[in-house]
Amino acid sequence: MSNTISKPENPYYSNTDTSKLNVSNAEWKKILSPDLYAVAREADTERAFTGTMWNDETKGTYYCATCGYKLFESNQKFTSSCGWPSFFEQENKESIVFKLDKSYGMIRTEALCGRCDSHLGHLFNDGPEPTGKRYCMNAISLDFVPNVDPKKSSTSLATITLGGGCYWCVEAVYDNLKGVQSVVSGYAGGRTKNPSYEEVCSGTTGHAEVVQITYDPTQTNTDEIFKVFFTVHDPTTLNRQGADVGTQYRSVIFYTNEKEKQEAKNVIAALQSAQVYDSPVVTTIEPLTQFYKAEEYHQDYYNNNKNQPYCKMVIQPKIEKFEKLFKKRLKNQN
Ligand SMILES: [Zn+2]
Repeated sequence: MSNTISKPENPYYSNTDTSKLNVSNAEWKKILSPDLYAVAREADTERAFTGTMWNDETKGTYYCATCGYKLFESNQKFTSSCGWPSFFEQENKESIVFKLDKSYGMIRTEALCGRCDSHLGHLFNDGPEPTGKRYCMNAISLDFVPNVDPKKSSTSLATITLGGGCYWCVEAVYDNLKGVQSVVSGYAGGRTKNPSYEEVCSGTTGHAEVVQITYDPTQTNTDEIFKVFFTVHDPTTLNRQGADVGTQYRSVIFYTNEKEKQEAKNVIAALQSAQVYDSPVVTTIEPLTQFYKAEEYHQDYYNNNKNQPYCKMVIQPKIEKFEKLFKKRLKNQN
């Protein structure tokens, strides 16, 4: 298993893809955290000593936090007293590009990611030998992946993307399942790029409201995730969940490999043959081509809006059903 970072909410992020990106700031703003956006896209500088990396000597690789591009190895780092992570050499000559920066009445060399053009920090000529350079980086602009220790087996996380009607409901349920690391609400399975909630709701883009679940396979598995899925939504109503009607509310499992596809087929076949429901299961099994994270206010919607009528009437009963049936599998249960 390679040791890489997965950021389901950021479709441009890859530790292996080196092709140049051309993404607008408006798009990055939707994807990046406000702190990272301010540094990466507006060349803001974090306060010295605030990042955790400036004195860290763990062996590993540093990647661009915006796009995942490989920037430095830990053996190119040195401990500088300046309070920002400092390097004397970049990973390859394409990894970092430079621009003259005349802001704040100084003439400095700005360092940018060679793949996504995000601001990383500055380059100075007061570094150690052999290069004499000092790459002074914002820690927030960097992701660090420690080297895999072959003696320790590291757990890698897995993701699955499901549509079971309104994503507010589905997200709220999985958030509380043991082994689930994160649940992101979004859109998948449609034709348009970067759809908005309004576009998806119009039912014309082909997207379904989905959740992307990232889980630790040593603590839960697709079998359990599917069990929860078929408990908290009705897989027998075509393009509809309760009062929510339209293809955006279709019951769908998105697979990313043949194994997931087969598991999805098996669970549906099992439900059909056991006649769990009065009507046939209409859940579709579709390949995941692209996942788009939904607008920020849709994330964690139930927890932020518990008193809204929809949450009380529609989501809460689903959560109660889930909590009853999966009592021993809840996060806050020991
Ligand atoms: Zn980048």
